[in-house]
Amino acid sequence: MYVHVDGEEAVRWTRAPWEPDAGPAPGRRVGFRDADVACPADPTKIVCVGRNYAAHAKELGNEVPAEPLLFFKPPSSLVGPLEAIVLPPQSERVEHESELAVVIGKRMRNVTKEDAMMHVFGYTVANDVTARDLQRKDGQWTRAKGFDTFCPAGPWIDTEIDPGHVRVLSRVNGVVRQDALTAQMIFDIPTLLAYVSRVMTLMPGDLVLTGTPEGVGPLAPGDVCEVELRDETTDRSLCLLSSPVRLP
Ligand code: ZN
Repeated sequence: MYVHVDGEEAVRWTRAPWEPDAGPAPGRRVGFRDADVACPADPTKIVCVGRNYAAHAKELGNEVPAEPLLFFKPPSSLVGPLEAIVLPPQSERVEHESELAVVIGKRMRNVTKEDAMMHVFGYTVANDVTARDLQRKDGQWTRAKGFDTFCPAGPWIDTEIDPGHVRVLSRVNGVVRQDALTAQMIFDIPTLLAYVSRVMTLMPGDLVLTGTPEGVGPLAPGDVCEVELRDETTDRSLCLLSSPVRLP
C-alpha cells in the first residue's frame, strides 16, 4: 500500500504515486506506525554507480573513473527502514555505503542531461551494503552487492529536496562514519540519469543509487547502522534508516 505521509497520519493512495491517475483514496486516513513501513518503491531494477566520490575511490585504492561505473543490485535485496541487515556466512567483511537514491517517476530512455530531471519522482536514502571481500575476490560485483537485506531504503520518498545540496551520512552505533555533500559527486544526477538512459530504459519506481562518499567501514552482529540524508542548508533530517545488523 502506498500512502502520503502527513504528520502522524497517512493518507492511503489509490496506486503507486508516479502512476498518472494516482491520487488519495477518499476517506482513507490510516494510522501510521514506524514499524509498518516498507521500502517505498517497487523497482524493476536498482541501478548503482560506483566510485562517484573521489575521496571514496581513493580510500579503496581505485582511480576516479572517466565515465560512470554502473552495476546492479537485485530488487530482492531491498528491505524497509527498520529491518535488519543479515550478515551472510560467505563473507568476513560486510560494509555500509550511505547513498542518495533517485526514484524514477516517468519512463526514460535516451534522455538528454537537460531533460533528465523531468523524469524524477523524488529521492530517498539507501544503504548499498557490500561484502567487500567478495567484491575483491569475484572480480564482478553481483554476489558482493546482491545478498538479501543488502539494500535498506526509505522510509519515504521526498519530492521536494534539492538533490545537489544534501548531506549524506552514516553512523554505526551512533558514531559518524560518513558525512559528505552530494555536491562532491564526480558525475551529478542529470549526467548519471542521462548516461544510464542511453543504456537501458528506466521505469517508474526504479531506483538509481548515486554512489557513496568516503568513510565506508565494517558491520558486526549487534551493530545498528543508520544512514541519513540531511538538508545542507537547514540541517533538517530528510530520510533516515536504522538497520540492526545480525547473523542469519
Ligand atoms: Zn555504492
